[in-house]
Amino acid sequence: MNQNIEQLKRWIQESDNIVFFGGAGVSTESGIPDFRGKNGLYKQKREIPLEKILSHDFFMAHPEEYYRFVRESEHHNGSDKPNQAHLRLAELEKEGKLKAVITQNADGLHQKAGSKIVYELHGNANRYFCVKCGKEYSQKEVMEGTEVPHCECGGLIRPGAVFFGESLDSKVLQAAVQAIRKADVLIVGGTSLAVYPAAGLIDYYEGDHLVLINEEPTPCDKRANLLIDEKIGKVFSCI
Ligand code: NAD
Repeated sequence: MNQNIEQLKRWIQESDNIVFFGGAGVSTESGIPDFRGKNGLYKQKREIPLEKILSHDFFMAHPEEYYRFVRESEHHNGSDKPNQAHLRLAELEKEGKLKAVITQNADGLHQKAGSKIVYELHGNANRYFCVKCGKEYSQKEVMEGTEVPHCECGGLIRPGAVFFGESLDSKVLQAAVQAIRKADVLIVGGTSLAVYPAAGLIDYYEGDHLVLINEEPTPCDKRANLLIDEKIGKVFSCI
């Protein structure tokens, strides 16, 4: 086993106050593409740029484009499965070692793996609600038709994910900051650390066990006490 993975394994054995902070790279081994990675969504050519489709103003003006994009994707029917990283993190929580998962992902796979304390910075794209009355709708209900879904009150139904141009939920952000501040070991993985304010979260970490697991370099590599440039699912299957 790679020496750095051995080191991570020791830090995990010694700590009962670990926090994990992850991004889209955590779910690529579940078949969900990230944004900026080797096979990321930003590499795909499309008529309307992705940043636009996933922005709040565009959604409110052209909800049909968002629903077309989601319905054409193979990830809209709830069939995605957690991988080794999600599963091992859920086990570490059960063992009392991991205090929280903070995720930039909106795919809900940490909860599917069994994690209970999950701070979803960008909400959850599998849950829906009415912008007018707040009534909640399941993914199945919303995905069934071919039209833009509307609530029985007439309001537009939107996903629970945070669109570009919207602010993050301050309570979720505050809870994430608290967890990071108190952590002995902070494991950051599968994130390009390029999207703010989420990426700025690691500035709150005060310890000296900052682990960064990412296939490609990030702007924060120099700050890591331990850097592992391997697939995150593989790393978690070894620890
Ligand atoms: P990103 O696409 O900017 O970066 C992902 C990083 O993970 C890349 O540096 C890539 O090299 C690395 N990576 C990919 N697969 C990996 C693997 N198996 N092991 C280790 N590293 C791997 O993602 P981000 O930093 O999370 O920021 C993009 C934003 O897009 C997020 O804020 C998120 O909300 C959203 N997003 C979410 C999903 C999802 O819910 N699954 C998918 C795509 C984008």
